[in-house]
Amino acid sequence: MKQKETLLSTQETNQHHEHIGDSHASFSLETPLRSDAFELDDDLKIELIEKHFKEIMQILGLDLTDDSLKGTPHRVAKMYVKEIFSGLDPKNAPDVKLFENKYQYKSMLVEKNISFHSTCEHHFVPIIGKAHVAYIPNGKVVGLSKLNRIVRHFARRPQVQERMTIQIANMLKEALNTNDVAVLIEADHLCVASRGVQDASSNTITSEYCGKFLDMKTREEFLNYITVDNMNK
Ligand SMILES: [Zn+2]
Repeated sequence: MKQKETLLSTQETNQHHEHIGDSHASFSLETPLRSDAFELDDDLKIELIEKHFKEIMQILGLDLTDDSLKGTPHRVAKMYVKEIFSGLDPKNAPDVKLFENKYQYKSMLVEKNISFHSTCEHHFVPIIGKAHVAYIPNGKVVGLSKLNRIVRHFARRPQVQERMTIQIANMLKEALNTNDVAVLIEADHLCVASRGVQDASSNTITSEYCGKFLDMKTREEFLNYITVDNMNK
């Protein structure tokens, strides 16, 4: 049912041979997690990752007794668990409360230029981008900062941009109790910019339009709002 109402249009503004070659066609909607993903607590995860990251550095030939390097394994482990991959854990999902729509606002609400940092799950290097989200209220409204928090929650995990776009749209639909949501993401993938084809100027655009946003006029209104004086800034 939901599937029918959604439409994914993925457009890559430049050739990303390497990136597409990295199996983008076969991503699943859910982040692939093991069933025992949260059986270890955060402290133990940090301890284990630290140990393994230290080994990677040692294999690379780095001298871990050097003052500048010796804290790196712990820093990386803590950053993975508590920051850049904290969105894997459902306990860190934003708690979205709805409010009565006292002012009877019934038009489209657009939150644009939500900046985020994510991590490419194929290379573990940054994806840096902006998300634009919109919804048409169905009786209730949400605090604006929650829209940013939803975007950032799904950014804080190993990702592919296409999946992230749909995951955000799905959570918005559920949280806002409406199908009338739109998500558009533009992002730079450092795996494309700094390695592989080394194209620093291309970026990737993905979108998900649901409910009333499948209608061209509504979609154009959304696109007009987000293109006004800010695209490519
Ligand atoms: Zn990549």
